[in-house]
Amino acid sequence: MTIRLPSPRHVDCKPTEGCAATAGEPCYSHGGTRARSSYHRVRTAAWQEARMDAHPAVRLVADAAKAKRGMHAAHAAALLDEHGYSSEAELIRTAVRDRHGLMSARQATELLLKTAEEAS
Ligand SMILES: [Zn+2]
Repeated sequence: MTIRLPSPRHVDCKPTEGCAATAGEPCYSHGGTRARSSYHRVRTAAWQEARMDAHPAVRLVADAAKAKRGMHAAHAAALLDEHGYSSEAELIRTAVRDRHGLMSARQATELLLKTAEEAS
């Protein structure tokens, strides 16, 4: 089962750092300066976390990239293989080749997430 969360509106906006809008509601405007289509940073961050939680392979790479700054996508592919995510590993290896080796684990995370969400 895959879960698709197309925008930050699908998660709550934290009442402490955000505006306490609940899932489904837009973020509340601040003096009319905030467009209704934009979200508080804390809500966007919570949304990113939820998207990664929905896809374990993405969560695996994201956590590793967070722990190791400057991690290369090739290391992300090796990590995916170690945990049995062979098709995800192959996707990353192909992308690394296409980009002539210029790809970070963080970029790999984004590619995995995009691919996983498009497949769902
Ligand atoms: Zn908000």
